[in-house]
Amino acid sequence: MTFPAAPLNDGSFPHDGWRLEHTYAGLPAALATAVAPTPVREPRLVLLNRSLARTLGLRPEAWTDAEAAALFSGNRLPPGAQPIAQAYAGHQYGHFTVLGDGRAILLGEQMTPSGERFDVQLKGAGPTPYSRRGDGRAALGPMVREYILSEAMHALGVPTTRSLAVVATGEEVWRQEAQPGAVLTRIASSHLRVGTVEWASARGDRDVLERLVAYSLQRHFPDRTDSPNPALALLDAVMERQASLVAEWMRVGFVHGVLNTDNVALSGETIDYGPCAFVDAYDPAAVFSSIDRHGRYAFGRQPAILGWNLTRLAEALLPLLHADIPQAVAVAEEHLERYEGRFEACWLAAFRRKLGLFTEEAGDAALVHRLLGWMEQGKRDYTNTFAALAKDDPRVPSVRERAEEAFGSWRQAWVERLARQPQSPEESLRLRQANCPAFIPRNHQVEAALAAAEHGDLGVLHRLLDVLATPYDHTRDAPAYQAPPQDGGVGYRTFCGT
Ligand code: AMP
Ligand code: MG
Repeated sequence: MTFPAAPLNDGSFPHDGWRLEHTYAGLPAALATAVAPTPVREPRLVLLNRSLARTLGLRPEAWTDAEAAALFSGNRLPPGAQPIAQAYAGHQYGHFTVLGDGRAILLGEQMTPSGERFDVQLKGAGPTPYSRRGDGRAALGPMVREYILSEAMHALGVPTTRSLAVVATGEEVWRQEAQPGAVLTRIASSHLRVGTVEWASARGDRDVLERLVAYSLQRHFPDRTDSPNPALALLDAVMERQASLVAEWMRVGFVHGVLNTDNVALSGETIDYGPCAFVDAYDPAAVFSSIDRHGRYAFGRQPAILGWNLTRLAEALLPLLHADIPQAVAVAEEHLERYEGRFEACWLAAFRRKLGLFTEEAGDAALVHRLLGWMEQGKRDYTNTFAALAKDDPRVPSVRERAEEAFGSWRQAWVERLARQPQSPEESLRLRQANCPAFIPRNHQVEAALAAAEHGDLGVLHRLLDVLATPYDHTRDAPAYQAPPQDGGVGYRTFCGT
């Protein structure tokens, strides 16, 4: 076996905008290991997100496709890169495990022209000290899937990591069968996870934990760095971000699929697109992941499981919350109790917007629940039901109202509720249309795009990406992208894609 050459780092792209810094690498050594990407045989550019590249201050026009493929496969490091794999732990399906970047390598933090800091990470870049028995690689299908889903979420206005590029490696990876390999370049506000804090805490080294907390506050919540109790400030801040994130998932019908604590980012961005999917018919029990047999991460359980994950964060922070552990527990519990109310508030605010409501009335939650109950009972399509309401003119009776009594009486209540707010029908319509997507990444459309891409046809993929880039364009005539699957999506299964 020949040992693969180390990636080039010859600074030969001086004018393409790279400005990498390495603040995370300055943390205690226990939190990362230096490791270079393993070069791949024959890198070929599949997707490059040029608009995201520009946002990052990069100049994609400076690269040929071959140069971009070399950069975003790990064959050629950008100037200033200092590749590392990050250490972390996590509760996977309820059980504590030591993990770490087993197939992802952080090149550094790109400073944008507007002064923002973003992690640039290659996913599938080869083995690291944390690979355990994994090969450190990724398959093309799941990486293109992450690209589609994460960019769709971004367009939907949901906080998320982003996808800068997918490069096919020209190598095969073995996942039950041979599949084409690929590397995804992931952009994130950071890759700090609940599991990062769990790892620091499990080491039992107070200094490491304190420095990680201070760093996390500095990086994501700089207005809270002066707090007298930094660990508590971090817990509160992450709780707020997660409550609002999961409310957004519920708003758009997103099922993450594998909400282990290592897949929960302190930044509040959606991270680690594995077996995720969007619901077609409204069903709180919807589960797509083939390995989530007990529905731990079902659509409707996500708010509760995030609460469970935040409790793990609080546990990890206990030594810093109070010198006396029973008192630390009491403080943690008092703060965690606020999560549910915080989530409910975010959720209700999101659903008021979906229904075009600007004002608040005591009966609003019940109004939403009645509609959801009607949808669940009749297995109605979640996205299309709301999209129809987003176009509905409350001043004229709807066809559906006449056809279905239960819906008719709900709509009557909604029309009356709308009439009790001072905003005009047009304002309400605009609010609804900005909060009820017309287009989501329908599972069957995603699968069709992946199948075509694996056969070298990228046209289907590009058309899908184009539609998903403007999910709130209710005037766009693209009914094929709005239609639920013919079988209602029953039995649709997703895989971890590892
Ligand atoms: P995930 O299910 O993607 O959240 O991954 C869970 C853990 O498994 C993380 O520590 C990953 O780095 C690791 N992992 C997943 N796939 C691989 C792989 N092919 N090789 C090495 N490690 C992997
Ligand atoms: Mg993960």
